Amino acid sequence: MNLETKSTERLTIHDVRKGLASGSSAVALAERHYSCITETDPNVHAWLALTRERAMAQAECIDEQFHAGGEVANSVGLLAGVPVGVKDVLVMQGAPATAGSKILEDYQPPYDATVVTRLEAAGAVLMGKLNCDEFAMGSSNENSAYGPVKNPRSLEHVPGGSSGGSAAAVAAGNCVASLGSDTGGSIRQPASFCGVVGVLPTYSRVSRYGLIAFASSLDRVGPFARTVRDAAKVLSVIAGHDPLDATSSSRPVPDYVAELDASATRPASELRLGVPAEYFSDGLDPEVRTAVEGAIRQLGEKGCVVKPISLPHTRYAIPAYYVIATAEASANLARFDGVRYGYRAPAEEAKTLSEMYRRTRDKGFGAEVKRRIMLGTYVLSAGYYDAYYKKAQQVRRLITQDFLDAFKEVDAILTPTAPTPAFLLGEKSDDPLAMYLADIFTVTANLAGICGMSVPCGRSKTDLPIGLQILGKHFDESTVFRVAQMAEDLQ
Ligand code: GLN
Repeated sequence: MNLETKSTERLTIHDVRKGLASGSSAVALAERHYSCITETDPNVHAWLALTRERAMAQAECIDEQFHAGGEVANSVGLLAGVPVGVKDVLVMQGAPATAGSKILEDYQPPYDATVVTRLEAAGAVLMGKLNCDEFAMGSSNENSAYGPVKNPRSLEHVPGGSSGGSAAAVAAGNCVASLGSDTGGSIRQPASFCGVVGVLPTYSRVSRYGLIAFASSLDRVGPFARTVRDAAKVLSVIAGHDPLDATSSSRPVPDYVAELDASATRPASELRLGVPAEYFSDGLDPEVRTAVEGAIRQLGEKGCVVKPISLPHTRYAIPAYYVIATAEASANLARFDGVRYGYRAPAEEAKTLSEMYRRTRDKGFGAEVKRRIMLGTYVLSAGYYDAYYKKAQQVRRLITQDFLDAFKEVDAILTPTAPTPAFLLGEKSDDPLAMYLADIFTVTANLAGICGMSVPCGRSKTDLPIGLQILGKHFDESTVFRVAQMAEDLQ
């Protein structure tokens, strides 16, 4: 393997480690990735800010460690010299954190998110901040106040959302891995559209300190990568208890990569894989059906036990999600008032305090964010709370119970990640309901708190990627990685 000649679109974390250990330079590698960004980003628009100084300082430090040799070189972190991008809903000192919103245009966070600190401590080279839908609300990246991201596999198509920049940057060869957030599908769906791997860790597995909140009972941070193994590596770096996030779990973090290696020699027949009928209904695009069913059939041929299962409350998931997510968003976004962060309407436009609040929020938020704040405020209001918010919470419980029951019978569940391959830019941007339906197969895992991921499983006739979703029990990321690795090996 030659680090200098392999295209940045294909490099893995393992390649980087091997290359640096045999004398290649982390500085040169970072430079190559910045050149790639210069080349692709005028078309793709995945990046909102580049943190070149910080990246180069880290790359130089990694080069010194490798040059020192011996103990010092052996003790470099798991991600030493790996170029990584960070979704703009996570804060990183030295770069604005806009969350894709005008209201945070000039916000300079004075601290790093815990996941950022952990990446850097593991040796990662942080290249910059990645474009996303405003406050992570969207499924196409067209809701970014800074302009949409294009799918690097086909520039007329959306990359998915809301972490579209994170998926596109990995697909375009701009970085080897990236971080995104997933509240209802925002890691898995763009991973599926861009043909990369994306992981939704179990709720509470990864710290959210420094994540700009959307819906706190659903939000998770997780990795994008080119291979299942790379994703497992990044997750093992970012997962684990954080004293700064009281909602983070104190369960020990398994060594996901070691478990993946250990499982490679175990028989496939010990895996029972459930296929829920509700995820293969009439609305499913025929090419997605063919690719996903093909992958499932091949996993069966490898020896896995494939079982039909039922998740009967699936059809209530979208309405329940859009009540709960908007309710929580309306509360979380109340803090953007022109006083504490970012944009404030100028005094000549707003004479009183309440005028200032109103003008600031009117100018600062985009249409989708306003729609969600209004919806969320409505479902929480006196007289409607029981009919909407409370009912949605009850439905959420039933959806969770569906999964708990299914996981008595199977070790993992296989579904399409999204009902279609990437759609065209503009195709759904005037139809919020059609856009919300893009999340139909992903929101259930967020409601239930379970883990999952999307792994490429084929291409459409027009060469657009298709993703297989693998869902696992709470804290059973290891099984999800194991199944995903088998699916990846079929490609
Ligand atoms: N597309 C979904 C939404 O708009 C999910 C977003 C997300 O996971 N952040 O709410």
